[in-house]
Amino acid sequence: MHNLQTVKEKIETACREAGRPADDVALVAVSKTFEPESIIPVLEAGQRRFGENRVQEALRKWPSLREQFKGVELHLIGPLQSNKTKEAVALFDVIHTVDREKIARALKKEMEKQGRAVELLVQVNTGEEPQKAGIAPLELVDFVGFCRDELKLSISGLMCIPPVDEEPALHFALLKKYADELGLAKLSMGMSGDFETAIALGATYVRVGSAIFGARDYG
Ligand SMILES: *Cc1c(COP(=O)(O)O)cnc(C)c1O
Repeated sequence: MHNLQTVKEKIETACREAGRPADDVALVAVSKTFEPESIIPVLEAGQRRFGENRVQEALRKWPSLREQFKGVELHLIGPLQSNKTKEAVALFDVIHTVDREKIARALKKEMEKQGRAVELLVQVNTGEEPQKAGIAPLELVDFVGFCRDELKLSISGLMCIPPVDEEPALHFALLKKYADELGLAKLSMGMSGDFETAIALGATYVRVGSAIFGARDYG
């Protein structure tokens, strides 16, 4: 059993309440830790945009699912190691977690080599948490400038994961402000517990896992 339909309806309602067209917000169904037997019913219900946070896990699951279901769009929402860039560029359509020069350079090189354009978002550590990935807010302008001007790497937007113990709305509003200042259109923010808040504050990608698939079992 999955709750895709319920989540889609909640997204539509949140869009309506925010005065935004329903197609402003794209649902990324986060299938990490779930096996194909759980993912297939969601594909059969018509969902085509999925998120995974590990390159290896995605490589194990998605090539065969893609053979069965056409038009899958795969999003990397977890940290990217530079030794996985080649596989990531070949497998993913969108990468939400660009957060340092080394990765930006490696992505640029791989995209050229493979002749493949992957949509890129910069992850921002809005809560400035030491253990969390993402570029520090103070370094964001320079980093996006580096990607754009030095690497000629197109950045479509920003992504954040708010600290668990803080009001997410503050972080969503901050991310929106940064994106506006940088002229970036895409905002990847909002998960199962807060995607409606994120939509009210301008999210264009919401990353929803457990509200669709149920609780994750990390074994
Ligand atoms: C797991 C994950 C999600 C989905 O979380 P849920 O609370 O299950 O919706 C969203 N974004 C990122 C980066 C994740 O790792």
